[in-house]
Amino acid sequence: MTEKSKILIVDDKKENILALELTIIDHGQGLPVEIFTATSGPQALKLTLHHDFALILLDVQMPEMDGFELAEFLRVKKNTQQIPIIFLSAVYSSEYYIMKGFESGAVDFLTKPINPNILLNKIQTFTQLDQQNKVLEQQRQRIEKHNRSLKQINKKLHDQQCTLKENIESLRVLATVFESGDGIMITNADSKIIQVNAAFQDITGYSSHEVIGKNPRILNSNRQSNMFMEHMWVQVLKKGSWSGEVWDKHKDGHLYPKHMIITAVKNTKGLTTEYVSIFSDTTKRNRAEQEIKKLAFYDTLTSLPNRRLLMDRLGVDLLASARCNHYGAVLFLDMDKFKSLNDTLGHDFGDLLLIEVANRIKFCVREEDTAARLGGDEFIILINNIEGTKSAVSHKTALIAEKVRSSLSAPYLLRGIKYLSSPSIGVSLYHDNNVSSFDLLKQADLAMYQAKEAGRNCVRFFDPTMQLEVESRASLENDLALAVLNKQFNLYYQVQLNSEQQPIGAEALIRWNQPLRGEVSPTDFIPIAEASLLILDIGDWVLETACQQLQLWSKNEQTSHLTLAVNVSVKQFQQANFVKKITDILLRFNVDASLLKLELTESIMVENISLGIAKMHDLKAIGVSLSLDDFGTGYSSLSYLNQLPMDQIKIDKSFVRDISSDKHSEMMVKAIIDIAKIFDICVIAEGVETEAQLSLLKQLGCKEFQGFYFSKPVPIEQFESLLTC
Ligand code: C2E
Ligand code: MG
Ligand code: MG
Repeated sequence: MTEKSKILIVDDKKENILALELTIIDHGQGLPVEIFTATSGPQALKLTLHHDFALILLDVQMPEMDGFELAEFLRVKKNTQQIPIIFLSAVYSSEYYIMKGFESGAVDFLTKPINPNILLNKIQTFTQLDQQNKVLEQQRQRIEKHNRSLKQINKKLHDQQCTLKENIESLRVLATVFESGDGIMITNADSKIIQVNAAFQDITGYSSHEVIGKNPRILNSNRQSNMFMEHMWVQVLKKGSWSGEVWDKHKDGHLYPKHMIITAVKNTKGLTTEYVSIFSDTTKRNRAEQEIKKLAFYDTLTSLPNRRLLMDRLGVDLLASARCNHYGAVLFLDMDKFKSLNDTLGHDFGDLLLIEVANRIKFCVREEDTAARLGGDEFIILINNIEGTKSAVSHKTALIAEKVRSSLSAPYLLRGIKYLSSPSIGVSLYHDNNVSSFDLLKQADLAMYQAKEAGRNCVRFFDPTMQLEVESRASLENDLALAVLNKQFNLYYQVQLNSEQQPIGAEALIRWNQPLRGEVSPTDFIPIAEASLLILDIGDWVLETACQQLQLWSKNEQTSHLTLAVNVSVKQFQQANFVKKITDILLRFNVDASLLKLELTESIMVENISLGIAKMHDLKAIGVSLSLDDFGTGYSSLSYLNQLPMDQIKIDKSFVRDISSDKHSEMMVKAIIDIAKIFDICVIAEGVETEAQLSLLKQLGCKEFQGFYFSKPVPIEQFESLLTC
């Protein structure tokens, strides 16, 4: 419902106002009007401030401000300039004033006395207009209101669209992340798998339909301890996440390492709703790390350790050698005339040679040694933990160096081309950690240059005395090999007697008369023969000669009861066919096995004790007797004595030598004799030189003797003449 139209009557005469009001009320029944009145211009202006008038009926002639002036004012003000004004006048009814009235904004000019019909007609017209305006205004306002809410809806829609876009964007990012290289597995709070991505399948081998609804235990390799798993879940529950490396089992059964992050997803109430595991197979990364390590520490061409790793290991070996009081050796190798191979056949061939050199070196050394390539054609071999005296160590090292030299000097076949090359090798030994790694390499390098100067393809030691020792040993070994060929040995016999001082047999002792050196002591050449395996030929010769002698003695009544003791070295004893060899020889010479006594030393116990004992039993089975030589000088002999099927123990000459002067030696000899008695083993004392030693030994219970006191080892003729004395 529209409100009534407001009509303002302005007249300085109240009676005029009243008359107009009555006219409107009386004649204008039903008009939706509300009448306001003002008796002056300023009063009228004031009313316009608070009301919107549909029509102003304005008297022209008024004191203070006439109708024209008021109309002027109303036309100027924005809220009043549209109000229709009808001038009412009796005096100013001429054309001029009417025109003035229109100019000042009037819509009509009624002259008094006012015809009520005309007035009402006019009022009706303007009231209708006002009413229509009001309806229009209401409609406009409604439209405006709609517009405003439309605008708001629009804005809301726009905002929602933006959020939607952002959500879509972040979903797209999440989807990309979800399907990125890392495996993702989402489980619900009950540990049931609810979602996995494509990478999960790649890494685990399981497709999503195979695992959805299952417990992640399906991936478990059981490589982690229960404690580890418990700790992991405690972390997830306490801190909300855990990360680390675990081993899982692929569908095909192989185990693989993976790096995993488990995160607990919580709802607004703080309750865990899901667990998200993100993981990556670290096999490749571990492999890459190894590859990096390989690149950093190994030579790419030969795959041997490089200088860096070598120096590292040398540092460790130096400390270890000092701790264990062992020696170590550095071999510096340089291939002879390598440059000319590179220049003539090209670097490809040079590389092929270096690869082959590296392979041959690896073949020559033990697993625990280090073969490294320094660069170019320079190689280093690090031999650690060499036991023995300085002289023994230099000999062992010389043997290894020689093995390497000879292996690297053998012809090479490079892409079908036969190529000859050789190395020059410099050797430097270390002990006590008294030389730095750097100086050791320098020493070996210097020695290598000496090898080059000596004509290449040879080995030189940095230490000149060592070099001399190695050389003299090498020359002795050379002569020994010739001695085997030329049969330069003799067998001497040293008598063995019982307590009645009657000969019961002899020990056969080898003698070597070298044309240039003269007599060489067995203590000098037997160790060299043992190291070079020449001992096998020498040993065979001794056994044959001894058996031949036993055969000869068997034919003579005076000698047929004599036993002959033969020294057997470890290498001989270790031969697989040793027992058969003895059997064959005994058969060949038709010798009574009980007359042959094999002297073994405790060193045969070093390698395989049970095998050694078994072999001794085999020897006993064929009838030969066994004697344990140099007893007391070796290992913890007494403890295993009862296990060995020995017939005799030989008390070492070192105890016998000191027996009369040193109480300790006397006690030792007594203990040996007492224990041997318990085990029912005979005892013979060797190295008896004096009457005093003999009587003391007899007092202590020793029943058999050997030594210079009776006779030195002598040739057979001399020995036999001894028997007749
Ligand atoms: P061995 O088997 O302990 O031999 C005893 C050594 O003591 C012999 O030295 C002998 O001459 C020496 N000897 C004997 N009585 C006395 C004495 O009263 N005083 C002193 N000071 N020495 C005495 P030889 O002949 O020089 O032999 C040394 C070692 O060489 C032997 O020690 C043995 O281990 C080894 N040997 C000798 N001949 C052979 C052999 O044919 N084969 C093997 N494998 N080794 C042998
Ligand atoms: Mg002996
Ligand atoms: Mg001995």
